[in-house]
Amino acid sequence: MPANRPSVLVVEDEAAQREVLAYNLQAEGYEVARAENGDDALLLVEEAPPDVIILDWMLPGVSGIEICRRLKSRTETRSIPVIMLSARSEEGDRVRGLETGADDYVVKPYSVVELMARVRTQLRRIRPTTVGMRLEFEDIVLDSETHKVTRNSKPIKLGPTEFRLLATFMDKPGRVWSREQLLDRVWGRDIYVDTRTVDVHVGRLRKALCTHGGSNPVRTVRSAGYALG
Ligand code: CA
Repeated sequence: MPANRPSVLVVEDEAAQREVLAYNLQAEGYEVARAENGDDALLLVEEAPPDVIILDWMLPGVSGIEICRRLKSRTETRSIPVIMLSARSEEGDRVRGLETGADDYVVKPYSVVELMARVRTQLRRIRPTTVGMRLEFEDIVLDSETHKVTRNSKPIKLGPTEFRLLATFMDKPGRVWSREQLLDRVWGRDIYVDTRTVDVHVGRLRKALCTHGGSNPVRTVRSAGYALG
């Protein structure tokens, strides 16, 4: 396992947007912290400085702009990249957002895929060696940036669902995941999928992981779910 996974703080008052972001960031292997207002965000940054902050402009109480200004005025927090989210699209606002010291500026509605790319860009700037997060478990290596998986250095072909399943397992080896938890994490709770679907995809994942031989690393835990190792 990598010593420390990059962490992202999501500051967004709209719960649904916050969760979608957190979900996608976790799926990419980041540690995620959430704040729904500026005061909580500033406290969290003080307690555990994240590697990147995704900051909504429109927040109740202290605005995103003001938070950004404060973060960028302190020596201890100045170097944390801030990606500002805003519903405003006028060029003047964009300039104003960047003038407060934000490192990047994304207009809502944004594409999650694009936002994830922007997060990686910011991380690459500050921690060039840890980007392209590699998760390792025994002879399995998963690169969350290139979406490549190898076992014993040989490539393993996975569909997107199997990839996300494996990333979830590799995130916490040994942890027992219930089918419901896997559904939440891999498929997202908004989509109705039968729990048996989980079994089907775990089956495919196991088969793929054994393409070049080796034993099946995904355990079935009776009446509980699945675990890696
Ligand atoms: Ca908002």
